Amino acid sequence: MEIAIEIANSISNKIMRFTIKLVKRILKPFSGMIDWANSYSLWPVHFTTSCCGCEFAATYDPRFDSERYGSLPFTHVRDTNTIIIEGTISKKMAKALKVVYDQMPSPKYVIAMGACAIDGGIFYNSYNVVKPRDFLPVEVYIPGCPPRPEAVENAILTMQRRIRELRIASKKVTE
Ligand code: SF4
Repeated sequence: MEIAIEIANSISNKIMRFTIKLVKRILKPFSGMIDWANSYSLWPVHFTTSCCGCEFAATYDPRFDSERYGSLPFTHVRDTNTIIIEGTISKKMAKALKVVYDQMPSPKYVIAMGACAIDGGIFYNSYNVVKPRDFLPVEVYIPGCPPRPEAVENAILTMQRRIRELRIASKKVTE
């Protein structure tokens, strides 16, 4: 019985690997299109722990209207590809942050907003504060305390440029 299960597992693993290889090969000629589409569909789930969240909210209000760049804040982590960390991350919140990040589908991007999310800000060197870059691959940093909505928009545009120029999305999908 055990041998039969092992054989079934190995066959299903081989089929899975073959399917993944096939999909990657099919997608390769469309890599430019994947990067283009991905860069214009950055849907951030916002991870707000402090005051930077107000500036993030203002970024998507009618005055700044960041949706015109193809970026739309989302609440459901399994439908988002970008996480914007707004504020201080304590050791307790770091665990929640990792859970949220792990649930997001790949290719996914991390943006750290504000001095607190970069290196602790006014809580620098506190015993309970961690830096997101120590456990997540942060792609873009937004300096300031708090950063203005224009700075958040600039980060979104920078991320878009990085995806297209460095072909980040297609590499993650096809390699
Ligand atoms: S960077 Fe400034 S505005 Fe942003 S969370 Fe820290 S203290 Fe608040």
